[in-house]
Amino acid sequence: AIPLVNAKSTSIGAKNGLLIRNRNVISISSKINYLLLDKTGTLTQGKFQVRKYNTLSKSYNADEVIKLIASLEQDSNHPIAQSILQFTKEKEIDLYALSDSNTLAGKGVSGIINGEEYQLVNEKTAREIVKNFPQVESLNYTSSYLIKGHELLGYVAVGDEIKKNAASLIKQIKALNITPVMLTGDNEKVAQNIAQKLGITEVHSGLMPADKQKIVATLQNQGNKVMMVGDGINDAPSLAKADIGVAIGAGTDVAVDSADVILVNSEPLDIISFLKLAQHTQRKTV
Ligand code: ADP
Ligand code: MG
Repeated sequence: AIPLVNAKSTSIGAKNGLLIRNRNVISISSKINYLLLDKTGTLTQGKFQVRKYNTLSKSYNADEVIKLIASLEQDSNHPIAQSILQFTKEKEIDLYALSDSNTLAGKGVSGIINGEEYQLVNEKTAREIVKNFPQVESLNYTSSYLIKGHELLGYVAVGDEIKKNAASLIKQIKALNITPVMLTGDNEKVAQNIAQKLGITEVHSGLMPADKQKIVATLQNQGNKVMMVGDGINDAPSLAKADIGVAIGAGTDVAVDSADVILVNSEPLDIISFLKLAQHTQRKTV
């Protein structure tokens, strides 16, 4: 009888923007006591805007820095890349040809421009590559650093906005006695700033995809049931590991393939809709 009731629920779900790929998760949903949330694209819109950019080298001016940065981002689907490309398009800045571009998951991108290899990476990674990393303004922005070899050339700072219903989600999750935890590859300052606004007290920042997965595993080993929500390639391992993996938005194919549930409309409150639908379904089935 279970498949029949569940089949009906999955179609009710589909109408509301919930795609349940793995129906087994319905019976687990009432046992969930941790909700892990990726920051960028999950709690925030993932639509960045360029707020600042500059040179950190004597040999490159700021215009050259942003041109190189945008050129490096040409093949990336990361929300940061999209915002930078939008910016240079609006400013009608022509880009260099890019070859051999690589995604450095959770870190940034690399590629070859005019025969030279460049990287654009987060601060933590940049500090590992560049000796004598300069004192940089620590803003509530996400900064990425342009590097050639071990030489720091400049940076771009982008800002994101919190999704409208993200705070409401956290409030409702707490009311269900589920502990919300933020997981992000972004830096501590930005992460804490957003967490505070949302009422999340457990925050893990500067994470690599494998770190996110490890946090899921640790919580599970302590006897918890973990739901994880994310949108990116960097979330795929943790979505697969979680008791319930939820991909939010169109996301990347990798995230969607690793997920049990897909929230088609990128709406945080659909997490609550899913939990309610699942519990309703279970009551009917039992
Ligand atoms: P999150 O976990 O918040 O979704 P990611 O794991 O996708 O973030 O990325 C972590 C960090 O790596 C970003 O905050 C950014 O600093 C850097 N980064 C990743 N991809 C890119 C990119 N294409 N361009 C610039 N920076 C990037
Ligand atoms: Mg993300």
